[in-house]
Amino acid sequence: MLNKKQVVQALEKVMDPEIGRSIVELGMVREVKVVGSRVKVVIALTIPNCPLKGVIAKDAEEKVAALADGLDVQIELSTMTAEEKKRMTDTLRGQSGAGAQEQGSLTGKLNRVKAVVAVMSGKGGVGKSTAAALLAAGLRRDGLRVGVLDADVTGPSIPKLFGVDDAPVMGPLGIVPPISEQGVKIMSINLMLERKDEAVIWRGPLISGAIKQFWNDVFWGDLDVLVVDLPPGTSDAALTVMQSLPVDGVVIVTSPQDLADMVVRKAANMAEHMKVGIWGIVENMSYVICPHCGERYSLFGEGNAAGMARTFNTQLLAQLPIDPELSRLCDAGQVERYESAEFEGALESLRAKLKGVAVKGSSEH
Ligand code: ADP
Repeated sequence: MLNKKQVVQALEKVMDPEIGRSIVELGMVREVKVVGSRVKVVIALTIPNCPLKGVIAKDAEEKVAALADGLDVQIELSTMTAEEKKRMTDTLRGQSGAGAQEQGSLTGKLNRVKAVVAVMSGKGGVGKSTAAALLAAGLRRDGLRVGVLDADVTGPSIPKLFGVDDAPVMGPLGIVPPISEQGVKIMSINLMLERKDEAVIWRGPLISGAIKQFWNDVFWGDLDVLVVDLPPGTSDAALTVMQSLPVDGVVIVTSPQDLADMVVRKAANMAEHMKVGIWGIVENMSYVICPHCGERYSLFGEGNAAGMARTFNTQLLAQLPIDPELSRLCDAGQVERYESAEFEGALESLRAKLKGVAVKGSSEH
């Protein structure tokens, strides 16, 4: 005969995918009832509209159903009370080694981000955000856990590219970032604004405050890579962001009409100053393919991205054409659906770089 203890043991194997701990350990299993072959389990979620509630419920149902043949398993979802949430954060605080008196963000301590890649450009409009989104989407397709932090507070376009406009929810473990169609976690100042067209004109200290908050108070959970879309230019704004986050590598986006030379030089200096490697250069809008004859035209002349990459001892990751399909998908909020052979090379190099970095918690900065 099945007993309650066996059901709880089965539920111990059900993980909250966001937190990476068992739902039993987190105190999310509020009730287990076994009457003959009927099993009822009540699971209390951290927030009412937890995006992963379906995953947790299905996993729990499968694990319990596997205990014996012919079980009638009923999973009921509820939301944690304030007291339950407090108990959970206390448990996690204990596990993270943060004493009750200790200052600092618990969320930051729970985040485990393996690698941070910053995407920068010399000026706006060269496709920096688009390239950042394509990198994130490509790595997500590999099955990696990916987040995008839109640090371009002066023109935050990341949510639009991913078709995300849900306001972030405040959960017990921090701000919960909305998740894109393909599962990329997104955080942007734009998601916090009441009016999306509100221009954000902030000075350095404010920008750095917001970015630090995006790093420390957003519950990213376990991420393989966080792609950071930096503000354009190599002036204060970009520098501030670089100083606020533990960046592992920088990808520079240029276009042939850009003064790539100067941009890469400045970026290289900045990266060197910050002791961060330049992982490579993406030249965007390099050429256009005639839809009729298939001929390749370099509308802005041949760029010098390859020469730059050599000079600064880094790689030319990709040369992307002007592609109406990419522009259409960006406008439709479906950048994740774009795949291109040209961009594959960039992803390949990035995968190799990512293998070499060590795991870090988000509070370690
Ligand atoms: P930035 O972040 O450098 O300011 P964005 O990534 O926002 O630039 O791109 C500006 C615009 O150009 C967007 O509307 C985007 O859809 C479009 N775009 C970028 N790259 C391409 C490309 N290779 N082909 C077609 N459109 C592109």
